[in-house]
Amino acid sequence: FPECRTLTGTLAFHAARIPEHPAVVTAQSTLSYHDLDGTSNRLARALADAGAEAGTRIAVIGHESAHYYELLFAVAKIGAVLVPVNWRLSAPEVAHILNDSQAMFLFADGSTDTAEQLPSVTMIRYDTSDYPDWLDRFDDAPVIPDTTENDPIAQLYTSGTTGLPKGVVLPQRSFFAIGDLLAEAGVDWIDWREGDVSLIGLPGFHIGGLWWAMQGFRAGITNAVMPFFSAEHALALFSRYRVTTGCMAAAMIQILLSDPSVSRRTFASLRKVIYGGSPISEDLLQRAMTILRCDFAQIYGLTETGNTAVCLPPDQHRPGTTRMRAAGRPYPGVECRIVDDDSRTLPVGVVGEVHLRTPARMLEYWRLPEATAATLVDGWIITGDAGYLDSDGYLYIHDRIKDMIISAGENVYPAEIENVLAGHPAVHDVAVIGVPDERWGEAIHAFVTVTAGAQIETRSLVEFASTRLAAFKLPARYHIVESIPRNPSGKILRRELRAEFWSGRDRQVN
Ligand code: ATP
Repeated sequence: FPECRTLTGTLAFHAARIPEHPAVVTAQSTLSYHDLDGTSNRLARALADAGAEAGTRIAVIGHESAHYYELLFAVAKIGAVLVPVNWRLSAPEVAHILNDSQAMFLFADGSTDTAEQLPSVTMIRYDTSDYPDWLDRFDDAPVIPDTTENDPIAQLYTSGTTGLPKGVVLPQRSFFAIGDLLAEAGVDWIDWREGDVSLIGLPGFHIGGLWWAMQGFRAGITNAVMPFFSAEHALALFSRYRVTTGCMAAAMIQILLSDPSVSRRTFASLRKVIYGGSPISEDLLQRAMTILRCDFAQIYGLTETGNTAVCLPPDQHRPGTTRMRAAGRPYPGVECRIVDDDSRTLPVGVVGEVHLRTPARMLEYWRLPEATAATLVDGWIITGDAGYLDSDGYLYIHDRIKDMIISAGENVYPAEIENVLAGHPAVHDVAVIGVPDERWGEAIHAFVTVTAGAQIETRSLVEFASTRLAAFKLPARYHIVESIPRNPSGKILRRELRAEFWSGRDRQVN
């Protein structure tokens, strides 16, 4: 759809073409394209009336709901910028984002008490009865903005797993460029079909959730939204709406498969699952393929690259092959290179830092010119990930460079060890970190949680690992724990695991 290059163009197009078609469904409600368009027109007018204009930052914190998408399109209609905030953040973290973004409004529901009132921010509760009354005061006639695909639409804060959260400013094209490139190349990897219902697993405050929702809106299909990811919420949407496709983080697939009812269910309507956001263990991927019995495609990218720059399509998901361990190949029109510490391009098969050049990339880190200059160089995004390319151009991600453990002078990537340990039948979840060690520099520690109903002994983990990993990669200690700290996109919060061992010391890498 060439009309669908901006959010407003997309919505206007489908609202005229398929007005009564459901755009957003939740367990309780259905919002058609016509209603989404009309309500976002009213909201755009209400915001403008309250003083918002092009470039104004409008924050939102709360559980996912249809309101979230009404706000997204309203913001687009006045050329403002949406600042979605993770509702799990603490009050000071929320305050940091509101202050840093200089948000004028904060839309909130009652799901969080951390959205502390800041004098400079007008709070609007969208879950009260006053809210529809407020909107009803405004006309729902079209609001047509003077914006293009190059104008900013969202400012997403990195989760801070690698430092203080930074506001990644994304233009509208971040949500459309990959689809356009693929259409030009005649490739249809998402393979949308009329009647599709798409599950949004990742939250809207994460690039994965927002990007995936936009792909659904662009295709004019139905987006199925849950307040936050849980197996119960996801399975309810699967049964009620016969979900055909969905996007989830690897950790969400794990949670879904752990639900006791899954083995009794069939997922007959499900055609494709898109997953990414963190490395996935081969064991989990194979189980998911066996149980869900649909196509799988992996995506790899960063908030800074406007989500996916690389994709492993379904035909490369052949169990037992090396290719199953790849993150994928850059889309046509996206470039990937692997460089050494001096930014020299490395040959095939050699591990270095991954750089990506994609038309979907961010504009900047908000008001951080130095950080922007360090990450965005000549159009290339410096990812901070370690990886290599094979001779067919497939990218294999090892891990974040900052997470690499240096033990006895050897470079060890936690993801590789986690991948192996995840294959132990009694291991439910696993995380690996390096801890200071006088003899080895860093010693490898593994944290595991136990599968429900199973028992585990350290001896069995040691034996399991020793037949599958080189000696220098073997954990020196195993900790059996209740849970592994992960962020909402499923990334392991290694910082939290490290805290006890590094006690305030900076962990330097390289
Ligand atoms: P921060 O940069 O503060 O950690 P964040 O966690 O929000 O913030 P994102 O942009 O969400 O950052 O995550 C991007 C990172 O996620 C990539 O750099 C990579 O390490 C990891 N990642 C994403 N997709 C994949 C994948 N398919 N395989 C392996 N790792 C992935």
